[in-house]
Amino acid sequence: MPCLFCEIVAGRRPARMVFDDDQLVAFHDINPQAPTHVLLVPRKHITSLLDLAPEDDALAGSLVRKARDIARDMGLDERGFRLVMNCGDDAGYSVYHIHLHLLGGRRLEWPPG
Ligand code: AMP
Ligand code: ZN
Repeated sequence: MPCLFCEIVAGRRPARMVFDDDQLVAFHDINPQAPTHVLLVPRKHITSLLDLAPEDDALAGSLVRKARDIARDMGLDERGFRLVMNCGDDAGYSVYHIHLHLLGGRRLEWPPG
């Protein structure tokens, strides 16, 4: 079965897009865990954090900085927000194409469940 996020990146499956450029796409999570829940996904298929290579450093930095920009655009900079990257079963990783969650718009508990 093709990778779900590769399919969204290629435009073959629908998503509520927030942003896209030549490196990454950002879209609303289909099952939001907060009033704002956006996923930032690199166009390049990287299976998980365990597969990040040194040549991905700039891409990883772009993901984080773009998430910050989107948070600011959505007015989350004043109250705060959270960026999350899951990895593996214990973290509940379910789509095996690396992605960064941007969560905000409510009080987020710590430690997470
Ligand atoms: P993770 O548990 O870190 O692998 O996160 C995967 C996320 O992808 C979950 O929050 C899902 O709700 C979300 N998701 C799964 N399918 C879709 C989809 N078709 N469009 C948008 N988000 C999705
Ligand atoms: Zn993929």
